[in-house]
Amino acid sequence: MKAFDLAGRVAIVTGGNGGIGLGMARGLAAAGARVVVAGRDAQKSAAAAKEIGGIAIEADVLQEADCRALARKTVAQLGRLDILVNNAGINIRRQPQEYALDEWHRVMDSNLTSAFVCSQAAYPEMLKNGGGKIINIGSMMSIFGASFTTAYAASKGGIVQMTRAMACAWAKDNIQVNAVLPGWIDTDLTRGARQQVEGLNERVLARTPAGRWGTPADLAGIAVFLASTTSDFLTGTAIPVDGGYSVQG
Ligand code: NDP
Repeated sequence: MKAFDLAGRVAIVTGGNGGIGLGMARGLAAAGARVVVAGRDAQKSAAAAKEIGGIAIEADVLQEADCRALARKTVAQLGRLDILVNNAGINIRRQPQEYALDEWHRVMDSNLTSAFVCSQAAYPEMLKNGGGKIINIGSMMSIFGASFTTAYAASKGGIVQMTRAMACAWAKDNIQVNAVLPGWIDTDLTRGARQQVEGLNERVLARTPAGRWGTPADLAGIAVFLASTTSDFLTGTAIPVDGGYSVQG
């Protein structure tokens, strides 16, 4: 459908070389966008970029310089920047009393500060095109808590509030900023969680009305919607894509 056509658009997906990021990158590419796969693992990024007809740019989002260079290199190589998906993220699972401060900072910087810096760097490039789309990846931990997610939940709660504030600031520039809150999606990240947290698999299945874990492909549609002109009057939202997990009583 033409409304969802992203031909001529250029998108960056941080952490686009695997998991949810690759699911979204595949969706954006299928809708016609040229996609920059940004990650630390050069081999994984190159393979993902090849698969979707995009390009790979090496970036460690913990490095401010890499975040800033990402927008610059994208425009140098593909001519413009229209869509930014702030997806790269990590978790360190510990009880709050066991968290070392450097672990706290690593989670906050990977999940929240990186999204701030990448968005800041993307802003002037989007202005040049008369607008843009920023899609920030939150989590069920943007809404709920769990004993092993202190820093992660703080970062993902922050993603939602940052999204709202940026949406207010940049609506005048025709830049829409929205957050997606994935439910429990089967990726490397959650495979680790399933190994570390006893009973997690059963709890997720019991609480998810859809009765299954999500897959990265389940996030492709929302990425295309939020990246396309169809969503031009939608900004500052946090949309769960969770098989009903967040509405289960
Ligand atoms: P994965 O572990 O499968 O993928 C994480 C991605 O982030 C990788 O591509 C990785 O790339 C990248 N990444 C991590 N740190 C950095 C860094 N410093 N610099 C550049 N890239 C980095 O996780 P998911 O796909 O599950 O998670 C993706 C996002 O979705 C995260 O923000 C996560 O919090 C969120 N999320 C996931 C849920 C789930 O159930 N899976 C649920 C809700 C939210 P590389 O290997 O190159 O470092």
